[in-house]
Amino acid sequence: TTVTRFAPSPTGHIHVGNARTALFNALFSRGRSGQFMLRVEDTDPERSRDEFLQSLMEDLRWLGLNWQLGHEAGGDAGPYRQSQRQYIYEDYFQRLQAAGHSYPCFCSRERLERLRAAQRASGQPPRYDGACAGLSEAEARGKLEAGEPATWRFRVKAYETVSFEDFVRGPQQFRTDEIGDFVIRRTDGTPAFFFSNAVDDALMGVTHVMRGEDHLTNTPRQLMLLKALDLLTPEYGHLPLIADSDGGPLSKRAGSLGIRQFRDEGYLPLALLNYMARLGHRYDDEERLRSLDELAADFDPGRIGKAPARYDAGQLLYWQKQAVARLNGEEAWQWMAAAVADAVPPGKARAFAELIRPNCVFPRDARDWAHRLFDDLDPMPAEAVSVIEESGREFFESALDALESAGTDYQSWVDRIRQLTGAKGKKLFLPLRAALTGSRSGPDLDGVLRLIGQHEAARRLERCTR
Ligand code: GLU
Repeated sequence: TTVTRFAPSPTGHIHVGNARTALFNALFSRGRSGQFMLRVEDTDPERSRDEFLQSLMEDLRWLGLNWQLGHEAGGDAGPYRQSQRQYIYEDYFQRLQAAGHSYPCFCSRERLERLRAAQRASGQPPRYDGACAGLSEAEARGKLEAGEPATWRFRVKAYETVSFEDFVRGPQQFRTDEIGDFVIRRTDGTPAFFFSNAVDDALMGVTHVMRGEDHLTNTPRQLMLLKALDLLTPEYGHLPLIADSDGGPLSKRAGSLGIRQFRDEGYLPLALLNYMARLGHRYDDEERLRSLDELAADFDPGRIGKAPARYDAGQLLYWQKQAVARLNGEEAWQWMAAAVADAVPPGKARAFAELIRPNCVFPRDARDWAHRLFDDLDPMPAEAVSVIEESGREFFESALDALESAGTDYQSWVDRIRQLTGAKGKKLFLPLRAALTGSRSGPDLDGVLRLIGQHEAARRLERCTR
């Protein structure tokens, strides 16, 4: 069975970039009736924070990206927080060391920086020169026993080729002499990213790893490690990065693209899901809002592009409108309640939400409508005043008369006004709308009349006769 995972480091809030990674992994396993896992990569104690972990789980759940395995979900390969797996990493460090695949490195940070600078200056890729690879066992043991700080490096075999089939990008090849011996264990004993990430994928039965293209060069290292440890390797697929709308890297504005901020602004999960699912992935029906299951059903790594995906706020807005249009009255009320609860009479909440939903993209739009419909409309907005003046007092006197006999029966009300005034079409509806809502456009007038009631409607028309 297919097992995918999202493996965030809880060092910040989740944004569109990593939420899309989570989404693609969730869609892929869901579409294959597999399982989706959450693994917490919190090996960096300085930067990892519990509050970030809590908020990222909340954001995933809010998006509907539930995980069946991993942190707070269980499974038999736990614990699923890397900070609690040190004893496992120790075991695998030992195995590599015993088989001669690793060695301690005593090079100082300064030396490594000088090396990197020299390589950069001569146009070579940065890689470790192997200075400590040749230390004799006795020498190395002596330094370790004397307490010299050491990292441990993986011994990369020179002049080999590591190839793999990337299930998004196709065949990949890397030459090992361009890689150099890399650090797997830091001086404090904690594992480097390459190590814990690869070992955990293997031990946790992850079958497919989908992650950002920035990890592509990590993959040959991880494949070498897993092979040396005789562990199973997952399939890897690397996703195109997301570029800002001006083509620059998204990370520049990452702060403003937090899932949390979108949620606070009133974006709906379904809008974000449909938007993110198309960041680099193509569906045949570009414009149809899909449910999570529908997104999963046709998710196909073969439909993921290689060019960077462009962040496009206009697209997101399109999906937001589609998602809002799907809300029923109760859902619409839940969505807008925080923004309008104090401005809507309690008994009218649901009817109000249902009526104005088609005129809202965000909850703050509902707030404007709550004021128009339930406040005094005093002074009358200018756009309405001009319409009202043009119709003249007599029109509204007739409308008032008609209202008295029709009550909140909208159809008989407008029929009666038509009879009395001869007005029709725009000449009939525009002034009525202006008088009742203070606006030239907006929700269904029939609904407005029922919502504000005969008494309030009369009061508003009355004002137009003065
Ligand atoms: N913790 C890594 C990251 O957030 C995981 C990368 C991966 O998916 O393998 O970048």
